[in-house]
Amino acid sequence: MTAYVEGGSGLLKARRAPGAAGAPSAARDPRDEVEALLGLGPAAGGGGPGRTPTGAQSAEASPEATGAVTPIDLALRAELAVHGLRATPGLSRRGGAGPSNDGHWKLAGPATATGCGTQTTLPMSPDSPFSLDADGQLTKDGVVVEDVSVEAIERPAFYDLCTADGTRYEDLARLHGTNVLATTVVQTCIRYRDEATRCRFCTIEESLRAGTTLQVKRPEDLAEVAAAAVRLDGVTQMVMTTGTSNGRDRGAKHLVRCVEAVLAAVPGLAIQVQIEPPLDLVWIDRLHEAGAAAVGIHVESTDETVRARWTPGKAEVPIARYEEAWRRAVAVFGPNRVSTYLLVGLGEEPDHLVADAERLIDMGVYPFVVPYRPMDGSLAFGDGVPAPSPAELRAVTGRVARALRHAGMRGIDQVAGCAACGACSALGADGG
Ligand code: SF4
Repeated sequence: MTAYVEGGSGLLKARRAPGAAGAPSAARDPRDEVEALLGLGPAAGGGGPGRTPTGAQSAEASPEATGAVTPIDLALRAELAVHGLRATPGLSRRGGAGPSNDGHWKLAGPATATGCGTQTTLPMSPDSPFSLDADGQLTKDGVVVEDVSVEAIERPAFYDLCTADGTRYEDLARLHGTNVLATTVVQTCIRYRDEATRCRFCTIEESLRAGTTLQVKRPEDLAEVAAAAVRLDGVTQMVMTTGTSNGRDRGAKHLVRCVEAVLAAVPGLAIQVQIEPPLDLVWIDRLHEAGAAAVGIHVESTDETVRARWTPGKAEVPIARYEEAWRRAVAVFGPNRVSTYLLVGLGEEPDHLVADAERLIDMGVYPFVVPYRPMDGSLAFGDGVPAPSPAELRAVTGRVARALRHAGMRGIDQVAGCAACGACSALGADGG
């Protein structure tokens, strides 16, 4: 079935995907649906030619000529971030630290060639209105979303290798997106075992419980995996995170060892380390001296009511201490080499969250804005706490992206880490 609608930038086409599951909602005006999905705002409303994953490319504005990747519209990106995708990914992850239970894809908007796209993680959601049709085209409620290219990121070759003692590389580090190697160097956290101190969105020890990772990664093993991932799969940067330890370094000591070992094996690899504020801030200097290029010190929210409810253990670390750690890190690593996660959907007032982000930007800290993701195994999932609405995510992300653009801060300039990767945030869809 094919329907044509006039849009602000020309004739737009929407058609029912053959064989696609789901049906358009009877209550919705299909013109509104398609216009929203096609992003007729300034970001994507240029009416540029599109290319689908099946290769139906317009003759105009070849992205091979421009080398550019056009991000998808922010409204659509926010909807996908919240609703996820009902499709089988080639590369996925479950449990562990950070956003998880997702598939990894390359997404691109109009005027972008097949094979190019922005790396994106999307929740694996059997109930999502978004799916892929038999040709691999993105659909919503069974209607093709035109001018969006979706391409699966495939399982990397290094996953098939093992260390000499038989440990699977895949259990030591994972590919995130197309070019990021990610590992949790210590998979346990002092705050996790007691529900009174555990962060309610976190699943760091669930992958350990599932037997798909090791509690402590040996530096020499990570070096071996990194060398293989660079050689076989084109990895260009690495993220090392850790559960919080009870030492004064809060986990930095083992991160230092791992950074040094990896850089000895792969000189020049850009590495971001992620850590709570150490009790002794000299550990921030030591992480830099070891060769880390960037550091993430993640607060998730600076609203004390939200912190007390969502991160009760971490909330015992005063925000003033985070600020000391961020300032020390900026002094050592440089501006826009320090970042923090800010989560949308924890109940923080949007104006407060945006003001947080603007303060961080002024400090030289990149606020990596991501939606709270209800992940199986987390306390909040057990409580049935839903993800934020796409409208809230879009509004907050758009405002923070504007502040980042104004400050000239781009995620990619972090060189390594989540902000440089960008796959779990919608910021990249709006120039952040
Ligand atoms: S932003 Fe990239 S590196 Fe960070 S968790 Fe998401 S996929 Fe991994």
